[in-house]
Amino acid sequence: MARINENFLKLKAGYLFPEIGRRVSEFTDNNAEAATKIIKCGIGDVTEPLPEAVREAMHKAVDELGNHDTFRGYGPEQGYDFLREAVVANAYEGLGINADDIFISDGSKCDTGNVLDIFGPGNKIAVTDPVYPVYVDTNVMIGNTGEGDASGRYEGLVYLACTAENDFVPAIPEEKVDLIYLCYPNNPTGASATRAQLEAWVAYAKENDAIILYDAAYEAFIQEDDVPRSIFEIEGALECAMEFRSFSKNGGFTGVRCGYIAIPSQLKGTTESGEEVSIKQLWSRRTSTKFNGASYPVQRGAEAIFSDAGKAQVAALVEHYMSNATLLREACTEIGLQVFGGVNAPYVWVACPEGIDSWGMFDKMLQEAQVVITPGSGFGAAGEGYFRISAFNSRANVEEVCKRLKAVFG
Ligand SMILES: *Cc1c(COP(=O)(O)O)cnc(C)c1O
Repeated sequence: MARINENFLKLKAGYLFPEIGRRVSEFTDNNAEAATKIIKCGIGDVTEPLPEAVREAMHKAVDELGNHDTFRGYGPEQGYDFLREAVVANAYEGLGINADDIFISDGSKCDTGNVLDIFGPGNKIAVTDPVYPVYVDTNVMIGNTGEGDASGRYEGLVYLACTAENDFVPAIPEEKVDLIYLCYPNNPTGASATRAQLEAWVAYAKENDAIILYDAAYEAFIQEDDVPRSIFEIEGALECAMEFRSFSKNGGFTGVRCGYIAIPSQLKGTTESGEEVSIKQLWSRRTSTKFNGASYPVQRGAEAIFSDAGKAQVAALVEHYMSNATLLREACTEIGLQVFGGVNAPYVWVACPEGIDSWGMFDKMLQEAQVVITPGSGFGAAGEGYFRISAFNSRANVEEVCKRLKAVFG
């Protein structure tokens, strides 16, 4: 019989969202009437339709493919120059990133997972707690961890606690690590990292020859002027960081699929014998072999996000979601809960009321308000005692959620 990759057996069977689903179904089975009122604020998926500029560009691209003279087959695996250049001009102007440092993909979930292909075994890997589960599970799958414990922590990973005390940006570790996943603005906590905090991380990475895997999927939601939008705004980051970005949350591309990685030429890893190797070259080689490029109409759609019309339409989407976040923050504050996030990210992270844990809050919100939130403990042990409300919703739903929160806790 064919042998399987037994690392997969270490995975905690997708605990969070299946368990949410199970509890929602159970409630629905027992409360048919109330169940019709359920509002989901759980999953981090956008709700508003694709910007018009994107749709126009995609229609046009499809028509090009339907014409003999303008038809295109396989494109460059790393992405079309038109999009790589638009990314540099709009996201990295003046930051030392060039068009050939940009690798266009079908999204950041895949990128943050696939990137482990080019890193060897034996790296010490640090993740935050709470964390976007993809970073952890992909390390488990590839064999970078031991077994998981009851709290969902895996042996071999370094967990960096993000708490209210450190404003949900982890302290610099005492020990030496080789790879560090950082995501700011953050999912799930909605926290953003200050320039000083990122400077400290870049200094640590340079001192320890570590690489920062910086996930900036929520960059577009930054409202405050002094919050860095890219790790490459920090001096020295070109030698110690790569950055993941996605069109999913700003452009509503969660179903369309497009993202990219920026990998500076200066970024190096090492062989066992100490020879330095370009990370960008490895990723380019990996991409040529395992990927055939994001689809042409999708890349044209992504390019349109950087057009004047596209920028205005994205700004309107961001403003819609961030106004939702403000309403949710205000409602939670009004009922006396301690609220974090929701200022530079579309997630509001709320401390549970005294004496209720994350799943207790989930059940209470479902049963008494018919609102589905995400229990903080599902993102890691340090998320216990918190819950996440997503601002990705219609205004009407958010207003109703605020009303129900006040009715239950007011
Ligand atoms: C939504 C999200 C992404 C983007 O994923 P895609 O695969 O591009 O849709 C990346 N990182 C985090 C933390 C996210 O929440």
